[in-house]
Amino acid sequence: MWDKLWINASLATMAGDTGAAAAGAGSQGAPYGLIEDGAFAVSDGRIAWVGVITDLPGAPETLARKVASLDGALVTPGLIDCHTHLVYAGNRAAEFEARLLGKTYEDIAKAGGGIMSTVTATRNASEDELVASALPRLDALLREGVTSIEIKSGYGLDLQTELKMLRAARRLGNVRAINVKTTLLAAHATPPEFKDRADDYIRHICDVILPAAHEAGLVDAVDGFCEGIGFSPDQIEQVFDKASSLGVRVKLHAEQLSDLGGARLAARFNALSADHLEYLKPEDASALAKANTAAVLLPGAFYYLRETKLPPVGALRAANVAMAVATDSNPGTSPMTSLLLAMNMACTLFRLTPEEALAGVTRNAAKALGVEADRGTIEVGKAADLAIWDVNHPSALSYFIGYNPLKMRLFAGTE
Ligand SMILES: [Zn+2]
Repeated sequence: MWDKLWINASLATMAGDTGAAAAGAGSQGAPYGLIEDGAFAVSDGRIAWVGVITDLPGAPETLARKVASLDGALVTPGLIDCHTHLVYAGNRAAEFEARLLGKTYEDIAKAGGGIMSTVTATRNASEDELVASALPRLDALLREGVTSIEIKSGYGLDLQTELKMLRAARRLGNVRAINVKTTLLAAHATPPEFKDRADDYIRHICDVILPAAHEAGLVDAVDGFCEGIGFSPDQIEQVFDKASSLGVRVKLHAEQLSDLGGARLAARFNALSADHLEYLKPEDASALAKANTAAVLLPGAFYYLRETKLPPVGALRAANVAMAVATDSNPGTSPMTSLLLAMNMACTLFRLTPEEALAGVTRNAAKALGVEADRGTIEVGKAADLAIWDVNHPSALSYFIGYNPLKMRLFAGTE
């Protein structure tokens, strides 16, 4: 007997063949893996049955301890925000305003602004303060049906603060019903202590920060910022070599502002994901496909920086690369706490289809975190992390701007 059976729902299961289903043409099942007049059962926090209500193996009340009707609501997998910098102290609103009043980046940097202002504030904050300041941002995502989130470090740039950020991120998963994956992004920027000695800082990451964070059990993945204003592919490769020797999967901020070949490097290390990718050469999409590396698109940062160079979505689609979509929630370039808005922007700015956008925050986001065996689709055996919406078709989730139709959220089967 199941714990609970939910009936009278439309189910966008997002299960099925990635490329074809995402393109919405020639797919094996219905678009969105849609099941009309559906039902699903939950036992021990997992999906125990899913299908058309008339295929249930008996009368509902004989199958489960509790039966509830969803009155025709739409059920999707719980949303997954697979790229965030959610934990940080302070914010950069004053800097945002200064820029609009005519100050240059240089003026702002001289006044101690930019990423270093966030590093200073984060170093000075206690772990409790980091948890408290991140909670309202996390709660905004929960209200939109997010059930899994990735949170990166990268505003400490020293051992103590990187560990503090990762511990704060893990604690968010204890105080809220959400699955948290933590990523070490020590290779985000060169800290002031290593000014003009980026190679020495990379060595410090490999010899000290990464081994200690791994030893503390805080590292689900390792990330880096491969960019002219970040680190070179050679420097990132050293960090990836160290991560690989510890058995830790990698991901990379690549090709956001220029093409340094970061995506190819990520593919060589069978990275979970390569993220941003506006400057990706279309011919490099096949390297990501071969390595089974997801492409994480971040339209919030593209919008906020008023970029004009679009990621090569057509090439990614043609190469059958799994495309994910995330908020990149961070204080400098994407102070965004709406994954629904990221879906809308992925469609309006990057021309994803609404089905691709939904796949991008469910099935493909799970892949970008390496949790696809357990999450990201509505299938028997997977975690019962689900979002239930007051809409009559899944395209509505990408259609609205600033309107949240969430009706209910289930985490491990529980409201
Ligand atoms: Zn980022």
